Amino acid sequence: MNTLFDLSGKVAIVTGCNTGLGQGMAVALAQAGCHIVGVNRSDSSDTRERVQSNGQSYLEVRVDLGDTKVIDSILKATLDKFGRVDVLVNNAGIIRRNDAVDFTEADWDAVMDLNSKSLFFLSQAVAKQFISQGEGGKIINIASMLSFQGGIRVPSYTASKSAVLGLTRLMANEWAKYGICTNAIAPGYMATNNTEALQQDESRNREILGRIPAGRWGTPQDMAGACIFLASDAANYVNGHTLAVDGGWLAR
Ligand code: NAP
Repeated sequence: MNTLFDLSGKVAIVTGCNTGLGQGMAVALAQAGCHIVGVNRSDSSDTRERVQSNGQSYLEVRVDLGDTKVIDSILKATLDKFGRVDVLVNNAGIIRRNDAVDFTEADWDAVMDLNSKSLFFLSQAVAKQFISQGEGGKIINIASMLSFQGGIRVPSYTASKSAVLGLTRLMANEWAKYGICTNAIAPGYMATNNTEALQQDESRNREILGRIPAGRWGTPQDMAGACIFLASDAANYVNGHTLAVDGGWLAR
């Protein structure tokens, strides 16, 4: 049974893993046996230490994923070091908050470029590599509650994460025939830098907690099980699904 979830010797690229949910998933994948390629703008030595302390190798790639020009260099660095790739976790993401009537084009483009456009083109590059390796692969996109709901004061984030849900289905439709499983995880309200403003806003915090059946904010560790499952052989016939890890938020 355990071999279903064994990722020994696999190579996983995880974007945005120096902190938050990405760090939680990178460490969980390392605990399951993966070597990790961490793609961040800033230093990720904390994640490196946690991955290495689980006996796995860690390669840091320092790039800004707001620009798709960097994508070839991520693949090149991965293949130079490990010779292959087995898992891609598209986690890097940003949010910009403002009333829809005041929302700027700059805040629209910054969020869409990272959360949707780079996610698609990095997936495309990795899928080409999976096809040339001939052994399939796993793509895990990080969606959101706002892949299902409209949200408020976050128009580009809602657009970008709704796109993630649709693109996850599209990639599954086109690439499942190569043994590539593309799925997404939709985190609920998780305590990270991304939600710092909400956690600090007393009334929003109370409203949010009041709606979560589990009665607490999620943590990066809460992503571990879903991420390992979708990266593993246990999910070989799971395609195009967006799995909520939300303490029951969507069930309300
Ligand atoms: P976070 O703590 O703010 O971390 C975001 C990560 O993305 C960081 O590692 C950051 O690295 C990286 N990143 C941002 N811009 C980047 C860029 N241009 N190029 C490369 N890396 C970049 O956020 P989080 O809460 O862990 O969120 C992770 C993912 O989960 C995001 O896609 C987010 O939308 C999604 N999500 C979060 C929640 C939540 O409640 N927290 C809920 C639903 C979905 P640098 O520091 O190097 O920029």
